[in-house]
Amino acid sequence: MSQSPRRLTAVPDTSLGTSLVRRARKVDRVLAETYPDARSELDFTTPFECLVVTVLSAQTTDKRVNLASPALFAAYPDPAAMAAADRAHLEKLVGPLGFFRAKTDSLLKLSAALVEQHGGQVPDRLDELVKLPGVGRKTANVVLGNAFGKPGITVDTHFGRLARRLGWTEESDPVKVEHEVGALFPKRDWTMLSHHLIWHGRRCCHARNPACGACPVARWCPSYGEGPTDPVKAAKLLRTEGRA
Ligand code: SF4
Repeated sequence: MSQSPRRLTAVPDTSLGTSLVRRARKVDRVLAETYPDARSELDFTTPFECLVVTVLSAQTTDKRVNLASPALFAAYPDPAAMAAADRAHLEKLVGPLGFFRAKTDSLLKLSAALVEQHGGQVPDRLDELVKLPGVGRKTANVVLGNAFGKPGITVDTHFGRLARRLGWTEESDPVKVEHEVGALFPKRDWTMLSHHLIWHGRRCCHARNPACGACPVARWCPSYGEGPTDPVKAAKLLRTEGRA
């Protein structure tokens, strides 16, 4: 029996995309089981606090921000109060976080914009959030996902590194990473996916020396072997907490 002729018309091969989607979602499920407590490691109770602590967390640790923020919000609980703050007092409160002049500037401009443009409320839309002074797409997505329960992908340094190591994207531009990875997952999973990857990046898949031999998603990772694969050596690299 003769073989059927080869098709000459182009047939889209979706198998690679499908397997990538399956692999990516499997990784997210395993990370969700590994880190059931994954969440933002910054403390906040309102959208305004979420916005402020996220802005303050640049160039410092979440732990330091969490130590400084109670006094900050006791003195300036909302945008109107912070916009009218005494600059020297505000500088003193954010002093332990470093870059205190720049951070004070950011908080004063941000609070004033919230009062003047949004009636003292934090907007719950990406296009409005990114127009606020000092608020980039990453901060906006943190606020959307964590303060408003709207799906947002937060491409910080951990998320970008892990997405590339896991073979989900080759892009380095955060916006392109956000779109490529976002296409692999249902929107409703975006916020938790961000927490899972960031927690894994802080605890196991470090920038230098990832703990590959102790990694729960190693079998789906094309970068397995970038760090020690010996389980004993790798286990020593694991951190139980995020950034100190
Ligand atoms: S196998 Fe290694 S590179 Fe891949 S996710 Fe795990 S720790 Fe990171």
